[in-house]
Amino acid sequence: PETIVVQELANRMAERVADVVKALMKMGVMATMNQTIDADTAELVIEEFGHKVVRVSDSDVEQVIEQVEDKPEDLQPRPPIITIMGHVDHGKTSLLDAIRKTSVVSGEAGGITQHIGAYQVTTESGAVLSFLDTPGHAAFTSMRARGANVTDIVVLVVAADDSVMPQTIEAINHARAAKVPMIVAINKCDKPDADANKVRTELLQHEVVVEAMSGEVQDVEVSAITGKGLDELLEAIALQAEILELQANPDRSAMGAVIEAKLDIGRGPVATVLVQHGTLKRGDIFVVGEQWGKVRALINDKGERVDQAGPSVPVEVLGLNGTPEAGDVLNVVETEAQAREIADYRHQAAKDKRAAAGAATTLEQLMAKA
Ligand code: GDP
Ligand code: MG
Repeated sequence: PETIVVQELANRMAERVADVVKALMKMGVMATMNQTIDADTAELVIEEFGHKVVRVSDSDVEQVIEQVEDKPEDLQPRPPIITIMGHVDHGKTSLLDAIRKTSVVSGEAGGITQHIGAYQVTTESGAVLSFLDTPGHAAFTSMRARGANVTDIVVLVVAADDSVMPQTIEAINHARAAKVPMIVAINKCDKPDADANKVRTELLQHEVVVEAMSGEVQDVEVSAITGKGLDELLEAIALQAEILELQANPDRSAMGAVIEAKLDIGRGPVATVLVQHGTLKRGDIFVVGEQWGKVRALINDKGERVDQAGPSVPVEVLGLNGTPEAGDVLNVVETEAQAREIADYRHQAAKDKRAAAGAATTLEQLMAKA
């Protein structure tokens, strides 16, 4: 069972051990500083002190990456992470490309942006936005299913010549389930048969009330082809982000989510990681899903090598011992031994689970035949 020594718990919370013992006493638990308490009790104590605990998993071995939540004074503003969703052919990819180009023109020299699965743009008013480059619901839901919540704002793209379609509704439901605010981008407004008001009216039927209909959901008319409304869309996102007051602590060991991973012939396993808190640095030792590694190089969305990446920054990570999966969580740990132990443990656990699932399937198949 999971346990922790009282002294260690006090250390992790940066609280006085005497206060922790007192808190335990109040809960009817008599323990000295050298005694161990179980994880559930520890969690109650942690909450009592106003911290929050995030248990990564129930295994003993994973306790090393159990995280105590940050104190308010350690938090700093971070850029929002945006996912574009909508019906097929309504212009998700075109819009992502158009936004990226806006940033290339106004930003860096060269203009050759590398596809790493996510990119950042700076709006005219100076806000930084991080876009996930993997539009579509499958990516969004599979990431969520794996425990990675990497979207702060959903941009719902609806083509003005086609209006609300089945996957539009699906996207609305996904955003709702994830409790992520939406902004509606009414796309293809350059088309002669575009009818933005039809989109607004049909969205009403799905309880999405846009600002133009006196609701709270921002709506912007855009065209990915002509570029119309793109700046306005970016400012709408920046405004929504401001309302959300997104924050993270950059001064702790990094945690992030894998949004893409591949085995590169020249470079070995490469993962694009969106840092969620802390700062990922060159030389950091980490565990990610069933893999582990030591950061050999970090490459940003412009293809430049960087020494570190803070909250909401997407980077390619080199130095993995194997290829993780999208949605896997990366955690920086202290030692290589820890990283290896956790990765091995997870690998074994996954193998056991697969074996069990395999056995169940076989049984089901037998039953079906009988
Ligand atoms: P996705 O399936 O949502 O990613 O849609 P795409 O970005 O692939 O776009 C589907 C088609 O619509 C492509 O032929 C695009 O060129 C076209 N398209 C996308 N945005 C616009 C737009 O704003 N105006 C017009 N006229 N065509 C667009
Ligand atoms: Mg597409």
